[in-house]
Amino acid sequence: MRSLLRYGVILLVLFLSSCTLLGVVTEKTVEHRLANPAFQQENLPLRTLRVAVLTESIGEDAQLSTAFTDASALLEQQVGIRLDIKIFHDLPWRGRSLFAIHRQVEQFRETHQEFDIVVGVALTFNNSEAWCWHNEEKGFDECIGGMVKEARNIALHTILSVLIAHEFGHTFLGIWHSKGGLMESFPVDKYFLESDRKRVLQNKWKDFHQRPNLLKRCFSFC
Ligand SMILES: [Zn+2]
Repeated sequence: MRSLLRYGVILLVLFLSSCTLLGVVTEKTVEHRLANPAFQQENLPLRTLRVAVLTESIGEDAQLSTAFTDASALLEQQVGIRLDIKIFHDLPWRGRSLFAIHRQVEQFRETHQEFDIVVGVALTFNNSEAWCWHNEEKGFDECIGGMVKEARNIALHTILSVLIAHEFGHTFLGIWHSKGGLMESFPVDKYFLESDRKRVLQNKWKDFHQRPNLLKRCFSFC
């Protein structure tokens, strides 16, 4: 009886581990299907998000604009979502942590309810909550870090387009990260996994003007 039990446990472990392995091996990103007409058709109709970007001037405004344009292109080619960006300057941050940025983003929302997504970007700061370095080429300090709250407000310490697209992915997918692709916790790939893209398309027309209820808010920051 004990040996039967032992074989059962071994078989169960083998079954579970093979499922896990299969899951990792078979999950692909959408990169190879971008030029496929049927894939492109699934991305229609196009949704244009009204986005406010709150930031201080970083000297070269074109860099900020280009980063969001690139992020928008990534989203448009994969899920048919375009970012219509309005840039606001001269917003002094009272604090530079992600939570401090979010406080000002939430205050901005109170009087600007016309936007789907509001993003706060603070690039130069001197705390140690994120991985930071001085970007010689761009001429400012940059950090890897971003956080979504209420699945509609984004705080950023970076203008890496992949990170921007990743945070916008969270506004449709919630806090969860994936084992690969754009929604990995530290994304090195700029393309959604097939399953993530499918879920974004399912949520594509969500209403961002409704503040999520308390339960959803508790689970919607990362
Ligand atoms: Zn994330």
